Amino acid sequence: MSGPHILILGAPGAGKGTQSANIVDEFGVEHVTTGDALRSNKEMDISDMDFEYDTPGEYMDAGELVPDAVVNAIVEEALSSADGYVLDGYPRNLEQAEELADMTDLDVVLYLEVAREELLDRLTGRRVCSECGTNYHVKYNQPEEEGVCDECGGELVQRDDDTREAAENRLEVFEENTLPVVDYYRDHDGFVAVDGEQAPDAVWSDVKAAIESSEE
Ligand code: AMP
Repeated sequence: MSGPHILILGAPGAGKGTQSANIVDEFGVEHVTTGDALRSNKEMDISDMDFEYDTPGEYMDAGELVPDAVVNAIVEEALSSADGYVLDGYPRNLEQAEELADMTDLDVVLYLEVAREELLDRLTGRRVCSECGTNYHVKYNQPEEEGVCDECGGELVQRDDDTREAAENRLEVFEENTLPVVDYYRDHDGFVAVDGEQAPDAVWSDVKAAIESSEE
């Protein structure tokens, strides 16, 4: 039997990455995430496509969306080789949602709900290990030694798009472009809204229950 097809929606900072990692461990599906895919291809030359900027990185650092044509191609390629998956960071606008409907069927659509002030606090305080990608927070999830990763000893850094200015821009982009996507999926089979302001373990237990009930 093929693994479940799971979509996880939520604003930047809502906990999609954390919950996706839990889903991968529990259900053995692949994590398909446009944010990570684009971060590994920040310098890709897209100048021949005639967009405002010549690389994905320039859009990302400004907190803007990378053009649909670039992102759609990444997702199509990743989904074609995945059995089950959790899709994280896509679709971010209605055009991408319509594109996705032509690529695959979804069994579960999760929406992690978190208020704007909390999101801003989470994003601007986030620190990420430059070596292994583990997430920390300056107030809520400190490493044992400041600036050093507990897991691998790597240096903790702030993502270029977690500065206050870029984070505020990303939240505006979310409200304008991606909230309509949430509404687009509200009537979809398997849609579940989860309170993302709970402790991570409580969020996980709601997420897990939603996926399990879709399998019954
Ligand atoms: P994330 O790690 O999901 O917050 O994504 C970081 C950045 O990558 C975003 O602010 C966008 O610039 C870009 N990005 C990620 N996913 C998409 C997408 N589906 N469409 C357009 N841009 C995206």
